[in-house]
Amino acid sequence: MVISIGVTQMRFGYFIRGKHKLKNKSVLLTFDDGPHPEYTPKILEILETESCKAIFFIIGSKAEKNPELIQAIVDAGHIIGNHTMTHPPLFALSRHSKVNAEIEKANQTIRALTGQKPVFFRPPIGYTNPIIAKSIKELKLTVIGWTLRSYDSVFRDPVKLTSRLIKRVKPGQIILLHDNLEVTQSCLAAFITEAKKKGITFVQSKENIPL
Ligand SMILES: [Zn+2]
Repeated sequence: MVISIGVTQMRFGYFIRGKHKLKNKSVLLTFDDGPHPEYTPKILEILETESCKAIFFIIGSKAEKNPELIQAIVDAGHIIGNHTMTHPPLFALSRHSKVNAEIEKANQTIRALTGQKPVFFRPPIGYTNPIIAKSIKELKLTVIGWTLRSYDSVFRDPVKLTSRLIKRVKPGQIILLHDNLEVTQSCLAAFITEAKKKGITFVQSKENIPL
């Protein structure tokens, strides 16, 4: 209940004016909750084969444990976004100092590993509130939501997930996926191939991410 209210509020920009719509018709893939030692490299391989560029909203503590994956994401021309340091389940109920620390520590980790300060932020479970909005403003980050939720954390069958995504994908969408899930890497290649057959184009250069 709490989660669905938060997501709804975020979608309508009730608390944060997140940028959710792309200015052109390409589809942008976004991957949350990584990096994952097994699945992130497989996803990078698929994106390379299909010439797609994505945003990876990484968790700082996982990035610290897998610095080579962060480097691989950057080297492949994708964007690293901030998804907090530890992805606390009660992030949206945290006080301002804790929210700031979670976001800032992840910023510092990304900066130390890539030499770049992240620009984009996605709150855990998409839940936002005035405290998070304040931190985002202070830390000069832009919130990126999504327009198509894959539900890859719910649909564990890659065939079902693939057909669900193919049915729903439309030009200009931002798709929420997770690079820490086996099902996501299992369905990604088939989804992209089938979507292209439907006439869908994907973002091909990070400079062209039209946000
Ligand atoms: Zn997450």
